Amino acid sequence: MKISSVAVVMAMRPEAAPVIASLGLVEADDGPAGLPFRWYEGRHRGIDISVAVNGVDPRHQVDSIGTNPAVLNTWLLIERRRPDVVVSAGTAGGFVSRGGEVGDLYLSSGDLVFHDHRIPIAGYSEYGIGRYPCADVEHLAHRLDAKTGVVSTGNSLDAPQVDLDQMAANDASVKDMEAAAVAWACWLSDTPFFALKTITDLVDGPADTAEEFLLNLSMATGRLSAALVELVAWLAEHGLD
Ligand code: SAH
Repeated sequence: MKISSVAVVMAMRPEAAPVIASLGLVEADDGPAGLPFRWYEGRHRGIDISVAVNGVDPRHQVDSIGTNPAVLNTWLLIERRRPDVVVSAGTAGGFVSRGGEVGDLYLSSGDLVFHDHRIPIAGYSEYGIGRYPCADVEHLAHRLDAKTGVVSTGNSLDAPQVDLDQMAANDASVKDMEAAAVAWACWLSDTPFFALKTITDLVDGPADTAEEFLLNLSMATGRLSAALVELVAWLAEHGLD
């Protein structure tokens, strides 16, 4: 499938800043009015690029991380820009037990799942986990020097035992707070989707997650930005099967 437009949904301003600068993107003047979302756009290698940042929560004055803003931003972007493919890009937690290291880059493989939607009623358990589809991007991993793995999403930065158990059951290599939500909006609208994440912290490592995240944020987002530029080049050359 030939790709002529890519939309990248990102939660935090510091995650998005390096790639916006690298690609010379400019803020769209027709972004969604009255909402915190910020859309940055431009063209690279013949592909139209939108980087949609979830923006600052107007009530709490921090980046709008988590699933709710991710869904709404993704939906509006799909409706208005009709991208050929949507990428959920950002930072994430990795797992020592799965060979993850800080600074690793991961492409999603398998379905996108949730680990904190526990609904023990017939049929609803599976609904809670989600399993929304991911485009097959295994062939991209070599070009990006990325690992591949299941991305599991929840609305908390911490990881209590119940969530750890569900992540293990999900075969998760990557823990974030947006990807499966973006995947849900893409699945509903029949838009191809995958996730690209860099590891800032290790869920099963010894360090405090919030401290480790802040320590590695700048390094990880630099790596993510370079990978996104390479990703656009790949899509321009090869499209998406
Ligand atoms: N403490 C940070 C907030 C970061 S929240 C601050 O004050 O700025 C984490 C964000 O990075 C989310 O958007 C999430 O998708 C990603 N993330 C990074 N590490 C994560 C982890 N271990 N678990 C869940 N999300 C993580």
